[in-house]
Amino acid sequence: MKRNVTYEPIVKEKTLIERNDSENLYQVKVKLQDGTLCRVFYNHGEKSISRLLTIPCPICRKDFICKCLNRFADQIDSQVNLPEMLAE
Ligand SMILES: [Zn+2]
Repeated sequence: MKRNVTYEPIVKEKTLIERNDSENLYQVKVKLQDGTLCRVFYNHGEKSISRLLTIPCPICRKDFICKCLNRFADQIDSQVNLPEMLAE
């Protein structure tokens, strides 16, 4: 299968930094293998990713806000495995 993108996010560290079960809101701080830091927000099952501006984006190389990582939300989410983190 041909792939459009070669970027492959690999989650190295993950920390649950916000947990609000009654509001169904969660926030996980993630460090990727390439050093990218981001936060994954879960809002009623909707996930979004915001990159921390510590190093340039690994995809577009911008050092300001971009939406690139959101294209990889499913890949990052599957490695974060929120249900498993909530069970700990
Ligand atoms: Zn980018």
